[in-house]
Order: sequence, then structure tokens, then C-alpha cells
Amino acid sequence: MGEPSTQIPFLFVGNQVCLDFINTQVVLNGRPVDLLATFSDLVTWLVQVHLLTEEEAKKIERQWGKQVEEAQTLEQARAFRVTLREMVKRIAAGRPVPQAAIEAINGMLRYRIGYPQLTRRRGKFDRGYQAESQEANQLLGLLAEAAMDLLGTCDFSLIKKCQNPLCVLFFYDTTKNHARHWCSMTICGNRSKVAAHYRRHRSQST
Ligand SMILES: [Zn+2]
Repeated sequence: MGEPSTQIPFLFVGNQVCLDFINTQVVLNGRPVDLLATFSDLVTWLVQVHLLTEEEAKKIERQWGKQVEEAQTLEQARAFRVTLREMVKRIAAGRPVPQAAIEAINGMLRYRIGYPQLTRRRGKFDRGYQAESQEANQLLGLLAEAAMDLLGTCDFSLIKKCQNPLCVLFFYDTTKNHARHWCSMTICGNRSKVAAHYRRHRSQST
């Protein structure tokens, strides 16, 4: 797995896989940028969030190579991301989860064909999964499972949008005081502090 094709590294500021998936759409210099430009980007991202192993990813790239199916899967993943972004926007605004979003997630979960497996990791047992499907759309099932985890395990009041109005990133606030405002201090926090400092400075000098 190489670098993402856009050459912009993926951001992992969401503290939750589904939010990080939504965050594969960013705004750079005021321009929207899609970090999932190709099917290969999607596979690379799934490896980076540990939803696919390196071996599984290599197998997918080697065995599939069905360009039409891959293009369709990428398109479906992007459309699913639009639905999830709308859903999370509503959650962050304290509004209910739309039924259409639940239906979209359940629809994608149908691609999750396989069975659970017990795996041993560093002397402990872990819940694993053996995918039975050889279709590209099994990747959509992984994304849907992350969305299911978001709805099933997260405290909705801690799902937040970055307070920079120009930023489109979401995160799960796991800080002790639940007082996180920014996707990251380096991306938006500092910029906001600099702007506030500049405003103060300017108002003092006038
Ligand atoms: Zn931000």
C-alpha cells in the first residue's frame, strides 16, 4: 500500500473510525478536497484504520482488479459518506438521526458476508472476522460497521464539529472535561488563537 494518490496524508483526528471516514473530505486553502480519489485510496485508508490487514489489502489489489466494480464501490463509498456527514451534522446539532441514514447503514451491512472468528493476539483472545465475499463491495460493509459502532457506542453529546466555521471536520470529544473545540490545535486551534490575538491587537491600536 502506497501513499494516498492525492499525496495529502489522511487525518486521524476524529477519535472514531466513522468520523475519520467522514473526515476524508477536507477543505484546504478554502477548496474542498476528497482524499479518497481512487479505489486504492479507499483500500489504503481501511488499512490505516486497521479495518483491513496489509495481507487482505494486497490480496484485494492482486485478485480483484475489476475496474468497473472498483469504480462502483468507490462511488458508493463516497455517496455513503455524504449520508453519514449529514447524519453526524444533525447529531452534532442535537437533532435526531434520520431514518434514511439507518436504512442506508443497514443496506451496506448486507455486504458484510462472512463469519466471526476467534483469534489469538499476544496471549489474549480477540474477536475476528472472516470475510466470505470476494466482491469489492465487502469494503462497504466495513464502513457500515464503523457507522453502526458510532450510533451504538458513542455518547451523542460528545460528537462535535470543529468550531472553525471554515473547517468541515468532526471528532469524538474524549477529553476529560469534554471541552475540545478544534479538530486539532495545529490545524484550527492555533489559527483561531492567532486571529483572536490579531483582533485584540487591532482593537487596542485603534
Ligand atoms: Zn478544524
